[in-house]
Amino acid sequence: VKAKIAVNGYGTIGKRVADAVRAQDDMEIIGISKTKPNYEAAVAHQLGYDIYAPAANLGAFEKAGMPAAGTIEEMVEKADLVVDCTPGGVGEGNKSLYEKAGVKAIWQGGEDHSLAGFSFNAICNYEQAVGRDLVRVVSCNTTALCRAIYPIDKELGVKKVRVILARRATDPNDVKKGPINAIVPDPIKLPSHHGPDVKSVLPQINITSAALKIPTTLMHVHTVNMEVDKDCTVDEVKNIFGSQPRIRFVGQGMSSTAEIMEFARDMKRPRNDMWENCIWPESITVGDKEIYFFQAVHQESIVVPENIDAIRAMMELESDGAKSIEKTNKAIGLYN
Ligand code: NAD
Repeated sequence: VKAKIAVNGYGTIGKRVADAVRAQDDMEIIGISKTKPNYEAAVAHQLGYDIYAPAANLGAFEKAGMPAAGTIEEMVEKADLVVDCTPGGVGEGNKSLYEKAGVKAIWQGGEDHSLAGFSFNAICNYEQAVGRDLVRVVSCNTTALCRAIYPIDKELGVKKVRVILARRATDPNDVKKGPINAIVPDPIKLPSHHGPDVKSVLPQINITSAALKIPTTLMHVHTVNMEVDKDCTVDEVKNIFGSQPRIRFVGQGMSSTAEIMEFARDMKRPRNDMWENCIWPESITVGDKEIYFFQAVHQESIVVPENIDAIRAMMELESDGAKSIEKTNKAIGLYN
């Protein structure tokens, strides 16, 4: 029998997680939730997802010609595990709903570590998530940093990491946020939370970060500097990154995030998704036990395969992280 998964909050992350669950053979989507019968709900309906809605809005779905299958509470009751993809801070309020129904739950990076008490990245701590009831899949930036730092720490020992993040101002579908004509230190008070959040997964890592919001919607770019314990060469660092299942080297004229997104479109990735860390191999520089490089992060999709692996670990469908990662990657088309 397949694990029964519900997605609560069908937005940027939720719609992608739902499709990715559908692509697996050991889990199934029993429903998604929408608060209003808008265009996204219409597409979900067209894709054959059972839509669940707040009790007060069931009539509106009926009226819009996409009758809901029931209330969000009813959806949660039917599931083995709920992936909460509601906006940051909203998911916290759903904890009692999940506990009452006795279902497992995954939250996203917008919630605090303490809500689940365990922060997940498939490369770093899959095995510790096996059988767990509550897990937080860390944010897009933290996911990318964990994927890059963990293998370097294993091979070379990481003494200290410093990261500057150039963050996309908002997601492509958002018409409300900005800036469209400024570079905004955000937050002004240093360090930013992004680097230190890596410690929620890898507590032993000494890391600081600073972040700037810039007028783009496509991707984030990190400038990463790591001090390491051992002398190393550029080729060694390339080999370490090259052996990672969710790191992709970008080149061949891809000199910017715009070209990476065009590449994803040309590859016919769903929604242009680039699930891997995109590292420019030419940027990898080494000297005096320090490593430097640039990586680009597709914020809308990078956490999607991690959510699938978290489900597989929590539902005890696979005890080996490397095997789950490979299975997930294959099913969503990451190797194509
Ligand atoms: P989003 O705003 O795109 O989607 C949230 C969805 O939840 C919307 O469809 C909204 O209508 C719905 N919703 C709101 N309140 C609800 C409720 N009470 N019950 C059910 N549904 C409700 O948000 P997102 O960007 O997908 O972010 C979701 C989570 O993922 C956040 O924790 C965020 O921090 C995290 N995250 C976002 C990104 C990103 O770049 N977008 C990347 C990684 C992690």
